[in-house]
Amino acid sequence: MQLTEELAKYFGYDRFRAGQEETIREVLNGRDVMLVMPTGAGKSICFQLTAVLLPGTTIVISPLIALMKDQVDALSEKGIPATFLNSTLDAYEMSERLEGIKQGRYKLVYVAPERFRNPRFTETLAALDVSLFTVDEAHCISQWGHDFRPDYLALGNVIRRLGGNVRVMAVTATATKAVREDIVRQLGLGVAPRGEPFVSVTGFARPNLYLHVTPCKTHAAKFARLVRVAEAYRCGIVYCATRKMVERVGTMLREDGYDPILYHGAMEDAERTRMQDRFISEEEPIVVATNAFGMGMDRPDIRFVVHWDIPGSVEAYYQEVGRGGRDGGFAWCELLFNFVDTKTQQFFIDSSNPDRTDVMHLWSVVKRECADHPVTRSADDWAAATGLSNGILARTILAMLERAGLVAREMEPGKRAYTTSLLPYTDENMKALERNCKAMTAKRESDQGKLDAIRHYAYSKGCRHQFLLNYFGERRADGAACSMCDNCHPRQPVKPKEPTEAQWLEIQKALSCIARLGGRFGLNIAALSLHGDGHAEIAANRLDTLSTFGLLRDKTLLHIVNLLEALLNESCIRLTRGIPALAVLTPKGIRVMKRQYPGFRFNPPR
Ligand code: ADP
Repeated sequence: MQLTEELAKYFGYDRFRAGQEETIREVLNGRDVMLVMPTGAGKSICFQLTAVLLPGTTIVISPLIALMKDQVDALSEKGIPATFLNSTLDAYEMSERLEGIKQGRYKLVYVAPERFRNPRFTETLAALDVSLFTVDEAHCISQWGHDFRPDYLALGNVIRRLGGNVRVMAVTATATKAVREDIVRQLGLGVAPRGEPFVSVTGFARPNLYLHVTPCKTHAAKFARLVRVAEAYRCGIVYCATRKMVERVGTMLREDGYDPILYHGAMEDAERTRMQDRFISEEEPIVVATNAFGMGMDRPDIRFVVHWDIPGSVEAYYQEVGRGGRDGGFAWCELLFNFVDTKTQQFFIDSSNPDRTDVMHLWSVVKRECADHPVTRSADDWAAATGLSNGILARTILAMLERAGLVAREMEPGKRAYTTSLLPYTDENMKALERNCKAMTAKRESDQGKLDAIRHYAYSKGCRHQFLLNYFGERRADGAACSMCDNCHPRQPVKPKEPTEAQWLEIQKALSCIARLGGRFGLNIAALSLHGDGHAEIAANRLDTLSTFGLLRDKTLLHIVNLLEALLNESCIRLTRGIPALAVLTPKGIRVMKRQYPGFRFNPPR
């Protein structure tokens, strides 16, 4: 089957991205698939197109209720019948939709995992003609993952009930080897008669990010480095581990004449919105933020990402540097590393995963002090009263006691202190607490392993891109040295300069050519046509008749390629995602082309 034609027919894309086509082929051939691709790489198409091509219905399990409707609407717009079942529907709608599903009216049905709490629902599904069972965000099944959801544990059984003819596809953006193995085991991927599952890990490479680590002993050393990077690349994000550090770095930058945008989780909504607006609208914003900054804040032309503190895991680091260079241009990603900073992360691990001794100690005190009447006290005071090292630890433990049904907690509006009261308890509650303690021990080990891994990254002497790919389990074909990390190819931030008159002329010619090509071609075709070269694609599209053809014929092709890259790095050009990437002029590029961008600077091609 010509899958590319089907892709164009249903989704209007003319090419597959890396990993998509082979995944779809394997599922069509009846194989189970474990698909790991970073967010935005195009996982959805893999099950959506397969669903259209297979007979029967495809079930998609997704925990993201808010996104279900969008996905279903988008599919319906393309003429693909789809629906969803989740808690937002009333009983009438639910039975309507179930009836439609029974009649085979939908190709795709999105289902929230909580649905399976009702055993009758599994029976209903088993009676349908389900050809593909997709589990999105599949890492939620694993207690080793960062987003464990107990409802996912039921899915293995559901799949078994569906019988041997259903294919299973597990999809996730983050899965280390341990999590992947957990998913395969728990969902029963590849159990007879379906044979070995096909595991596909693709799309993690981010070749346009320059990865750099600078050991820094003091805050002054870090700040000097930060300013150097910020001067050179101007539009970027500085990640700090704590809110206090965000404030501190923000103050230092302000004293140095910058006007940074500060962002952390404890900010008021109105303030947060104001910061987001500034981030989107300013020409060259510098954001100082905790990891609360990210989701949904995709500005494509982020040119640097500096980590003031080491994050807690390689996953977090990858996700955060991944916000750089989304337009395909260069982004400088630097980790300012001081071993002492890992203590902050260690503190997070210790206080969010208490050990059994501390849990039992606090429980014995709570039992005694709350025996006669409820006690109103802040977590910090509980910690002080029991000799625990900090309030966060006490709060985690109190939440564990609550989850085990041993205590009830209530907070009065506007107060920080909880009122804790003892509940009548049985052996079952104590057993639940013991189970929680065990789970905590496992999670602590897993979190510790993650911190050790990012620490190894900081000390690594090998290729940093290779390190990240290895971590995520993606194999790289060449294994050769890259030119985009400090270990393979050391370099320093370079401050851009104002163009000379001669350079201005070249810049304007190059940008006019991109404008003329109208976003239908990549950078290579642009370079060839500026150079005035013949090429099958140029001839076929009669690009040699454009006024910009051969405008830079007196330069070498290499010079033209470098010039286009430099303009990409200055956010004058943007590359679309997809292969090959197509070049389009940005609003900044249009102004620069017309020489209406005061203070324009760039790094001229060598
Ligand atoms: P993920 O689920 O991996 O986060 P999506 O499936 O939502 O990513 O895809 C991200 C974006 O890329 C979507 O806008 C989607 O339409 C687009 N996309 C996916 N595959 C292709 C393709 N082959 N060509 C062009 N665009 C694509």
